[in-house]
This record gives sequence, structure tokens and C-alpha cells, in this order.
Amino acid sequence: MNHLEAAAKRRATARAISAGITDAACGGLGEWWSTREALLADAKSPREVAEAAAPAIDICHHCPEQAPCAALATTGRYTGIAAATVYVAGRPRKQRQPPAQQQAGAA
Ligand code: SF4
Repeated sequence: MNHLEAAAKRRATARAISAGITDAACGGLGEWWSTREALLADAKSPREVAEAAAPAIDICHHCPEQAPCAALATTGRYTGIAAATVYVAGRPRKQRQPPAQQQAGAA
């Protein structure tokens, strides 16, 4: 699947799982949201993931629909940004700690 096909699939999945959410703070931001998720898909490091997702996550933090959105992201096996979380196939993406934090935590 090429980049354009992947983006189209992400948009279709997002529309399908959010169809029942009526008061979404991201309403009307579909193209912008897809751009953030394309940047997220291209991210090569935890820092790039965080930078790509941050603007959308900020919007989620002001959304009254986080709970149903999270449930739909899980059941819909969503990959992208939903409910202030980066999901991969319906599960929150695991964050890798930078080496300095791993060393501090290991002490
Ligand atoms: S929690 Fe985020 S992704 Fe979900 S409906 Fe609200 S703004 Fe959109």
C-alpha cells in the first residue's frame, strides 16, 4: 500500500469510527487531522512521534468526547491519534524512554 492509499484508508477508518461522536472538538478538522497522522506515520523516533501528535492531542484534551472516542478507537482497531492518545491497531502506542530515563529508572 502506498502513502496515498494508506492516508485514504486512515481517513475512511477515522470517519467510520467517529460517526457516532456528535460533539467532537476535531469536527471539521479531517484534512488537518489526516496531515498530522501522515506525519505520525512517517515519524522515525519517539521525539518525532510526540511532535507530530502534540497539536492534535492538545485538541483532544479540550474534547468532551474522549471516553467514547477511546472506546471506538479500541474496538475499531484504530491507528492514529484519538482521545489524546496515539493508537496502533486499537492499542495505545508504547512510549520508549530515552536512555537517560532508562538508566535513572534502573538504579
Ligand atoms: S477525543 Fe480527540 S479524536 Fe476523539 S473526538 Fe475528541 S478531538 Fe476528536
